[in-house]
Amino acid sequence: KPRLRFAPSPTGYVHIGGLRTALYNYLYAKKHDGTYLLRVEDTDQSRLVEGAIEGMIDAMTWAGVVHDEGPFMDDASGRVVERGEYGPYIQSKRLDVYRKHASDLIDSGHAYYCFCTKERLEAVRETQKASGLTPKYDGHCRNLSKEEVAEKLANGVPHVVRLKLPESRTIEFEDAIKGKVSVCTDDLDDQVLMKTDGFPTYHMAVVVDDHYMGITHVVRGDEWLISTPKHIYTYEAFGWQAPQFVHLPVILSQSKKKLSKREGDVSVDDFKKKGYLPEALVNYIALVGWSPEDGTEIMDMKTLIDKFSFERVSKSSGVFDVDKLNWMNNQYIRAYELDRLIDIAKPFFVASGYADETSFEANKAHFALILDILRERLNRLDEIGAYYNLFNNNKLILEDEEAKSMIEMEHVGDMLKCFADKLESYESVVADDVKKILKEVQKETGHKGKNLFMPVRVALTGQVHGPDIARVIEVIGTVNAVERVRYSID
Ligand code: GLU
Repeated sequence: KPRLRFAPSPTGYVHIGGLRTALYNYLYAKKHDGTYLLRVEDTDQSRLVEGAIEGMIDAMTWAGVVHDEGPFMDDASGRVVERGEYGPYIQSKRLDVYRKHASDLIDSGHAYYCFCTKERLEAVRETQKASGLTPKYDGHCRNLSKEEVAEKLANGVPHVVRLKLPESRTIEFEDAIKGKVSVCTDDLDDQVLMKTDGFPTYHMAVVVDDHYMGITHVVRGDEWLISTPKHIYTYEAFGWQAPQFVHLPVILSQSKKKLSKREGDVSVDDFKKKGYLPEALVNYIALVGWSPEDGTEIMDMKTLIDKFSFERVSKSSGVFDVDKLNWMNNQYIRAYELDRLIDIAKPFFVASGYADETSFEANKAHFALILDILRERLNRLDEIGAYYNLFNNNKLILEDEEAKSMIEMEHVGDMLKCFADKLESYESVVADDVKKILKEVQKETGHKGKNLFMPVRVALTGQVHGPDIARVIEVIGTVNAVERVRYSID
């Protein structure tokens, strides 16, 4: 049974690319009845951000990509615990394991202590650069004698542990997406495995953990592809079998650059705050760089699991198309159960001043009606704010020329007055009542079609396009509707 993992470093937030990586791991694990685990890679102590892990777990939970093993899971009584038999799943709690394995590699001649100072390394790099070479560790400490090493260690000279790559050897592996990858060790650095602070580097910890956690498929972004040959060699040095590697192409922005904060939203939280639904975001991001054979686009998690395969992940980078995401989010907003949607929409109503928390709850049915009227035109829930006046202001200002011209037509004053007079006699209306009133107005004033509907629509909504007017009257009530119509012809 396959075991896959998402291994974020808690340096901030979950990037939308990270969500896709996690999702592909998850989909594959679920599809093949395997396990999806989460491991926290926090060995770079200088880059830790307080609360980042919790924030990342929240984002993943929101998205519905939930791990079967790992830290921060709920137990039966709702306590937060770590679950799984391969823990700890937080690397900073596994330091002993890395230290032991580093010393095993030294003993077997696959790694060595390096005592070079920062200054020396810097100088070597400068010289290499000056002569047009690619900077690389020069192997100064590769062949220190046992005695020299012992003496330096006894004297407490700061050191790191480096991987001892063999000379001029070709390292090869088969990546599920990139195909055959082949690199000569002469082009690789003797990777630092353990740092001066006694912490492992990513390269050490990732190999040890993937091995002990029984990972069968390493699915990650292709920025790690260049490191993989070193990992392959490390597996070999330990006498372990390497997992299957699956390196995913990057996600580009619409301007074909790497998706970065400077160009717009990149964190899962940004999307949540704008009112994207988790199902829509997950559905969309799954399709950036992958598509099912039958071309289906709208897919819930179950369908994604059902259709997912690495074979259909594209070799070239995918483009993050916000318009497509918006379209998809709209599809989900339309189709969502109103009862659930209203709860998700609540913060957006509150933020745009429709209600406070308490009055929202007290008038939930009213806001659900508004949401239901609006939802077919919402790409994101934060667009609810743009309709505030439509539901709350009886003194609508006509902003567009077309709307103004509708109200300014000669016959409009008398016709709207007739409409308002009739509407006034109703306490509340349903769609049929409005139809009936319009018919009567048509009979009495002789105006019909566009000449009738458009002025009524503009008087009630301020716009020539928009939601169904009968429903708007239903929500604002006839008293407000009448006031609105009268105000428009004042
Ligand atoms: N901690 C690495 C990251 O944040 C994980 C890379 C991997 O999956 O091996 O990207």
